[in-house]
Amino acid sequence: MKITQVEFMTSAVLPDQYPTENRPEIALSGRSNVGKSSLINCLVNRKNIARISSKPGKTQTINFFLVNESVVFADVPGYGFAKVSKKIRESWGKMMETYFTKRENLVSVVQIVDLRHPPSKDDQNMYQFLKHYQIPVIVAATKADKLPKSKWHKHLKVVKEVLQMDSSDALILFSAETKMGKEELLAEIQQRIGQ
Ligand code: GDP
Repeated sequence: MKITQVEFMTSAVLPDQYPTENRPEIALSGRSNVGKSSLINCLVNRKNIARISSKPGKTQTINFFLVNESVVFADVPGYGFAKVSKKIRESWGKMMETYFTKRENLVSVVQIVDLRHPPSKDDQNMYQFLKHYQIPVIVAATKADKLPKSKWHKHLKVVKEVLQMDSSDALILFSAETKMGKEELLAEIQQRIGQ
């Protein structure tokens, strides 16, 4: 899959604000500051279409992008930011549950984790939540450039084990800095949307 075009569609909180066209959709999720915006910008070849967060946990809307006029990327707000209030956390939870359980054209979720550390409790909960609803997941372990190559394999194994990854889900080594894993991730997305 080569991305030649991307445009911002809309931001949404409630289902009636989601785009109504029935295009295949890929959601991208991860804890705040994991590198989600950087990964999205890298995939779509744009410097700043997904805003690199200066204030983690601030964006509390789902942002929809139309890619190649045929696929939608849904940038869902980051989780696991310790400093947000209980109220914001609860409204986030409600918004996410509604989105992940009701979005019929959702094909797969790209869950982004930091390769350097074992997946956090929040990462584990998110993955288990997606599996509970039988949503296919592609795990992208990012910031690989921050680790020596000799450690990649071991860290990937930890990600797989801690998340208790389903064998049907893919695990991709990624770096927004070096663009490593970009083609592999795009190929995986393409295969899942069947285009
Ligand atoms: P978000 O909150 O998940 O959207 O995270 P951002 O994309 O804003 O990234 C958080 C910080 O990590 C920023 O300072 C990025 O420059 C940095 N970052 C993101 N991805 C990578 C990566 O692959 N390698 C390195 N070295 N830094 C990264």
